[in-house]
Amino acid sequence: MSNPLSFVNPTPDSPWQTYLSQVDRVLPYLGHLARWADTLKRPKRALIVDVPIELDNGTVAHYEGYRVQHNLSRGPGKGGVRYHPDVTLEEVMALSAWMSIKNAAVNLPYGGAKGGIRVDPKQLSQKELEKLTRRYTSEIGLIIGPQQDIPAPDVNTNAQIMAWMMDTYSMNTGATATGVVTGKPIHLGGSLGRVKATGRGVFVTGREAARKLGLDLQGARVAVQGFGNVGSAAAELFGQAGAKIVAVQDHSGCLINTRGFDLSELVPWVRQHGGVGGFPGGEPLTAEEFWDVDCEIMIPAALEGQITADRANRLKARLVLEGANGPTLPAADDILAERGILVVPDVICNAGGVTVSYFEWVQDFSSFFWTEDEINLRLDKIMQGALRRIWDTADQHGVTLRTATFAVACERILMAREERGLYP
Ligand code: GLU
Repeated sequence: MSNPLSFVNPTPDSPWQTYLSQVDRVLPYLGHLARWADTLKRPKRALIVDVPIELDNGTVAHYEGYRVQHNLSRGPGKGGVRYHPDVTLEEVMALSAWMSIKNAAVNLPYGGAKGGIRVDPKQLSQKELEKLTRRYTSEIGLIIGPQQDIPAPDVNTNAQIMAWMMDTYSMNTGATATGVVTGKPIHLGGSLGRVKATGRGVFVTGREAARKLGLDLQGARVAVQGFGNVGSAAAELFGQAGAKIVAVQDHSGCLINTRGFDLSELVPWVRQHGGVGGFPGGEPLTAEEFWDVDCEIMIPAALEGQITADRANRLKARLVLEGANGPTLPAADDILAERGILVVPDVICNAGGVTVSYFEWVQDFSSFFWTEDEINLRLDKIMQGALRRIWDTADQHGVTLRTATFAVACERILMAREERGLYP
């Protein structure tokens, strides 16, 4: 765990270094806009807050929290809040930057932001979790708001936490502001389809990529790392399309079933036990063996830095769908490209979540709510259109989908930067 001394001094192999090297790769394709490229290499603003709470046992505990607004050229900041013991400022910087790229790649009218608290939420009671969330929201209240920066769920945060954030912000400002966060419960201005939207986006981009590769989803073998909100929803949709989920791995265990898991049993098991570990419908594997599993599609849907160079050399899949943010290290990216394994990068693959967050925010402003079918249809259309544009760019320059996504997104961000001009 280390924080960089400056924005441009990344810790080796950190998510921020991964992001900076992804930006370097896109510079040759930015034309005259490359003049502004340093804008992308430093966050606009980073806030570090102390979050003290009184625990149930009467002692006082302090947690470190962050909110980073990477870029606001195209609109308010947008991005989730993560609760995890490994959260650092540098990680949140990278996650906020990936939000800028993601939001521009799907052409949402947002900049990029992200937040986090270094905490293991599993160690806290519900009451402590509420206090933590409320104090954190108050502290970052300086810079969030429906028109400024709109948080949402991420790793270990959910609709209940968003409800507390919305309430805290509203109490502090004196008016109910549903549009200050997305991913809220339905009856508090949440949107239908939001919970499964990230997984749905992974499926939609994966389906389109499979079609390009001539890979039939019927009978295709899928391995999923991380069986939380994203991994489980994507697995269910691939299952419905005829694919077999043959391996799953999460913090609690790793399992294989070459005939395909029965998701109608696995999904409730995970909900009840908090992880895949101990599920009787599969054989245990070691965590490392997961990367050697025979499959056509690999979905990393957990944390950053999972596909290392070594694992990239061993991977059997033809298609990698990045449900997680930043799961592939740059050296691994090169190996996958050389091996002809297609990667649909995080910044488009998992953009379904923030796209439906955008729908939620629009619905909150208009106080008019859409049906789930409308939401899913619009999501499908936006994701397909964005991917098509990225694919054309990749073909035009002969680059990977990641570099193409960065090219499309960075051009949009830097165009806005240039048109707005430098203040003062
Ligand atoms: N945390 C999600 C992401 O990484 C969603 C962010 C949002 O909806 O604002 O894309």
